[in-house]
Amino acid sequence: MAWFLIISSVIVLWVASLCKILHGSYSPPKGTFLNNLKDGGSINKRNVLLVVAHPDDESMFFTPTINYLTTRGHNIHILCLSIGDADGKGITRKEELYQASAILKVPHQQVKVLDHPDLQDGFGEVWNHNILALIIEEEINSYGIDLIITFDNYGVSGHCNHCDVHYGVIRKLLHASSQRKIEAWELVSTNIFRKYSGPVDIWLSSLYPMQCSHEVLHCLLNEQPRKSFRAMAQHSSQWVWFRKLFVGFSSYTYVNTLRKMK
Ligand SMILES: [Zn+2]
Repeated sequence: MAWFLIISSVIVLWVASLCKILHGSYSPPKGTFLNNLKDGGSINKRNVLLVVAHPDDESMFFTPTINYLTTRGHNIHILCLSIGDADGKGITRKEELYQASAILKVPHQQVKVLDHPDLQDGFGEVWNHNILALIIEEEINSYGIDLIITFDNYGVSGHCNHCDVHYGVIRKLLHASSQRKIEAWELVSTNIFRKYSGPVDIWLSSLYPMQCSHEVLHCLLNEQPRKSFRAMAQHSSQWVWFRKLFVGFSSYTYVNTLRKMK
């Protein structure tokens, strides 16, 4: 009986949270990310670079952030540092990223997928942080980027390529003395309970900033969670049953917590 009550409560909470998101009736306590207004009253549009490791990272983990930015008119570039060739499907995966980006409203010409010999997809592959910093630097200069978003030091799943991307951005920031100041934000990796709490995490992630008063954090809600599914479905070579389950149950489909990097 007790188990029945617990399971029923979880289902009710899950459905209620999803309804809150879908009906737009939930607003995170800190919904002011990049909402600075110019003198004329319009939003100060930013040139944002999202740096990821593999094709599908953007759809699986960053859709709330991408949707938040595109719906507010910010200009997003995606830099994917590998074609994801660990299983020999790199060429296909590269094309899939372009298709997913179209769903996410990121123009084709603003998506770059690298196939660098020293940055190959795989758990045993160590990516040189200096090479990453140079590549990111080049991208910043080419497109006038003023803000970077990437993984934190755990990279959601602990994948070493994700973690290396984080340290590449840190290296870039440390060497930024000769450049104009670049603002950078990292996607906060959550514990396993929150990671698989799906839409329920909208409540938990809104409590999280209260525990970290010394950090600058923003919770970004995915107002269109269906888009995560549609974008991820473009990655046909990866769209297997367990990833379908992941996208449904993952809190990263519904909300992203971003932390300002120092
Ligand atoms: Zn990845």
